[in-house]
Parts: sequence; structure tokens; C-alpha cells
Amino acid sequence: MSAYVPGLQPGPGQRLVKLNTNENPYPPSPRALKALRAAAGPRLRLYPDPACRELRERAAEVYGLDAAQVVPGNGSDELLAIVMRTFVDEGGAVAYFQPSYSLYPVLAAVARARVVELPLPRDATGLPVPRVQAGVFLLSTPNAPYGTGFSTAWIESLLASFPGIVVADEAYAEFADETSLPLLPRHPRLVIIRTLSKSYSLAGLRVGLAFAHPEVAAEMAKVKDSYNLDRPAQAAAAAALADQAHFRANRDRIRATRARFSARLTELGFAVPASQANFVFAATGTGMPAAREIYAGLLERRFLVRFFDRPGLDDGMRISIGTDDEMDALAGAIGDLVRR
Ligand SMILES: *Cc1c(COP(=O)(O)O)cnc(C)c1O
Repeated sequence: MSAYVPGLQPGPGQRLVKLNTNENPYPPSPRALKALRAAAGPRLRLYPDPACRELRERAAEVYGLDAAQVVPGNGSDELLAIVMRTFVDEGGAVAYFQPSYSLYPVLAAVARARVVELPLPRDATGLPVPRVQAGVFLLSTPNAPYGTGFSTAWIESLLASFPGIVVADEAYAEFADETSLPLLPRHPRLVIIRTLSKSYSLAGLRVGLAFAHPEVAAEMAKVKDSYNLDRPAQAAAAAALADQAHFRANRDRIRATRARFSARLTELGFAVPASQANFVFAATGTGMPAAREIYAGLLERRFLVRFFDRPGLDDGMRISIGTDDEMDALAGAIGDLVRR
């Protein structure tokens, strides 16, 4: 099998404006950092709470759920693996769009599942709901790498026609206008997966949250490692969720920067699908240098963005939304490169 290829992580001392893995440019909540420091004490000799009760209760409060509907994971990547272990039998099938999150084929290979890959057009407006048979449908929404979202109504139609578990991988939903959360009370086959990596600036902590029907959540909890979240992670994540003001202020800044930066890219001649995430996909227009060359030129100027070297994606770059200053500097550099 092929391994998942994560975005480049610069080595120590390599100074780059890092806009390639959709991290949040702003620091985590001071309350989360305080909780983290408080957790780094003598109590580390004790195992953490295997049920993550405090974190689940906090998440339930913030998202209007019951704590029995929440399963925390060591990043949402672990939750995706837990979903596979829970719902995909050996030889079973997994459906997902292509392109989407490039971890999905890897998860399927590990599970020895058959894959049903469906082509995702860059403009998915009016996309009919696919008719497929599989145990699990992995739906990245807003999707990576284009940044566009599936509407709540579209996801509800998918739930109506698809017989298995629909996973709404909502890693970027906090930056979007719509989420599938309102569907949860009436759709027990829906599993929503969120992460604190992007919207709460905690990619380094590794905390994700799955929201599901209590019976589905209970099955997932059976197959997870007992102590999948360490003590500091549980404490800091709960504190981060409690600081909604910090989260909202950063989310709003990122959405405003996204609008400004998208407009700049469009002026420069790129085609930019309307992003619902904290990144944009910039596709080169006619007469422009190849995306590969722009990517290389940006790297020389110490800007690291994501270039996917494969057919269908190699005409563009996926660019995470940083601070206003970072995006202004980047837009300047891109302007120099495309006007040469
Ligand atoms: C970033 C990302 C994840 C992983 O998030 P972690 O919680 O950091 O593991 C999952 N799904 C998608 C679509 C992502 O982009």
C-alpha cells in the first residue's frame, strides 16, 4: 500500500511562511495554555480519564448535544480510523470523492476495504447525489482541496439514498456557512467529525471530536484505545472549547482575510472556487505560468503552499489562510511571479 504523504514540515531553523497544512495562524486560547500548564504536574503519573468526561460535557454544551453523543479522538484522523474499525468489515466497501482528503485511500487499504471512488467536479453545484453501495461514505465537507461545501440539504439526500454510515468530515466546518449538525437528531447513520486542529489553533495537541447517535457513539467507544487522549490534551481542549470568544474572533478574522485574499487572486487571473474553509484553491488561468513553477518560485521566496503533483490538481495550489500581513506579502510575491 502507499503511505499518506503529509504536507511538508519545515526543519528547525528553516524560516518559511507556512501555508501548506491549513494550520491556524493565531495562537490558541490563553485559557487552553493555562490548562495545559496546570496539567503538566505530578498528576501525570495517573492515567487520564478513558471516557474524557469533562471534554465531552464541554463539547456537548458548545454544540448543543448530549455528552453520550460525543467521542473524542487523538486528532480527527484517529476518529476516521475508529469509524473504519467500527463499521467496515474486511472486504467491505468505502466510498469517497476523488479528489478529497488523501488519507481516505490509506484508511481503506489498512482496513482491507474495497473502494468506490467518485469523481468530484471542481464546481459541484447541482451535483447529483451518487447512488452507491458501501458500508461507509467518507465525505469531506467543506471539501479538501477545493474548499467548497456540500449543502445540508445535499447531505440529507445522501443520507436518504446511501444505506451505510455517512461520515461528514467537517474539519473546516467552523469556517463555513452551513454544517450537517442540524441533521444529527433525525439521522442515526450520520457521524460528524470535527477537529480542534484548525479552528481552535491546536494542531499540535491532537484533539478531534466525533458527534453521533448515542448508540453509534457507544460502538465507536468500544473499539477505541482506552486512553486515546492524554491528560494535558483533555484539559486544554476542554478549556479551548470554553473560550468561545477567542475562537469566534479568530474565525471571523480568517473568514475576512479569506474573502480579501480570494479577491486578490481573482484579480491576478486565478480561478478560485468560493471557499468555505481556512484555505483556498487557486487554479491558474490561461497564459499564466504553470502552478508548479509558481509553487517553486514561492518556495524560493520562503512561502510554503501546497502543490499536488497529480492530474486534475496540478493546475493549482492550495493555500492556507494566514494573517493579513502574511497574505498581503504572499499576494505580492504571486503577483511578481505571474507578471514576469
Ligand atoms: C486536517 C484534516 C483532518 C485531520 O485533522 P486532525 O484533527 O488534525 O487529525 C481531517 N480531515 C480533513 C478533511 C482535514 O483536512
